[in-house]
Amino acid sequence: MGVSAAVLDVTTMRDRLGRLRDRAAEAGVAAVVITPGSDLRYLLGVGGSSFERLTALVVPTDRALAPVLVSPALEFAGLGHLPLDDLGVEVRTWVDGEDAHALALAGLGAGPLAVSDMTPALHLLQLRDAGAAEQRLAGPILRELRMRKDVVELSQLRAAGAAIDRVHARVAQWLRPGRTEAQVAADIAAAIVEEGHAAADFVIVGSGPNGASPHHSVSDRVIERGDVVVVDIGGPLPSGYNSDSTRTYAVGSPHEPDVAGAYAALQAAQQAAVDAVRPGVTCESVDAAARSVLADAELADRFIHRTGHGIGLDVHEEPYIVTGNDLPLEAGMTFSIEPGVYVRGRWGARIEDIVAVTPEGVERFNTRPHDLAIL
Ligand code: ZN
Ligand code: ZN
Ligand code: ZN
Repeated sequence: MGVSAAVLDVTTMRDRLGRLRDRAAEAGVAAVVITPGSDLRYLLGVGGSSFERLTALVVPTDRALAPVLVSPALEFAGLGHLPLDDLGVEVRTWVDGEDAHALALAGLGAGPLAVSDMTPALHLLQLRDAGAAEQRLAGPILRELRMRKDVVELSQLRAAGAAIDRVHARVAQWLRPGRTEAQVAADIAAAIVEEGHAAADFVIVGSGPNGASPHHSVSDRVIERGDVVVVDIGGPLPSGYNSDSTRTYAVGSPHEPDVAGAYAALQAAQQAAVDAVRPGVTCESVDAAARSVLADAELADRFIHRTGHGIGLDVHEEPYIVTGNDLPLEAGMTFSIEPGVYVRGRWGARIEDIVAVTPEGVERFNTRPHDLAIL
């Protein structure tokens, strides 16, 4: 666990807790229960994950009741640095043998409980057993806060984009015929950390036929001259804000004959989707902008996933740029634009940038060239 005061000061925490209570009241719940994960990191700057012992922030809708931080006594040292007094958060520690879930619910009024989406079922069911008759996902409440990034969050995501661009700028030196995907990925992972990330969260090196599987990770396949290689990489900065960018490389001239034409259509599709981004436009219309360019090139059935996903403290979060999502874009939303073309058994390609909606239109956080990079 750790906090980064530079990205989350006490004023921001207080503001976020206040807005959470407003949204929770609108949603008609008695309280929001948040266990360790990105929601808790958003509110208090605390990282880490949920274990079998309950740690939770319980935020009652009723302003007469203080928010409560429930923590195992043996883990409270990791939370002691938080400005809990300033925030008016009451601390309830517990020891093994006590009913932590009953402790979390003590004093709450009647009404449904909103529980963070990634809370383990273990804790959800114990909260139910401790008397919370009705539970809901807190995701729809939290997303109203987390979807619109503030200036500090935008600067973190911009820095994450620049950091992963510096890694892509170095990929050519590692991507060579005769090396395995795993060897290339190890070099890339080291560079992700060297360029300022806290960790390399994911490294996809999909060469030749493996590029046709969008979430292929890496394998011991040896890269051959003529391969098209999808490199999709990212990770969190120390603040927790993530990068995620894909470029497609060719190791020498591609040996598959249909690459050049399909790649040109992909590049046009990605550009069309970026160009469609501005406040008031729906998420699904950005998806449609990419999809229609690929359809015109008779590649509609080669594009087998949504156009993008929101990004922030999670690599995949709201808003999703997908058919059926009529959510209008607003300034401060950040997401990927990542159409792909996948030809099963032969090759694949994807181009992915993170963008932010600005009051005027769009800002790209990834600025590496989009052309098929022939090495
Ligand atoms: Zn993905
Ligand atoms: Zn990606
Ligand atoms: Zn992505």
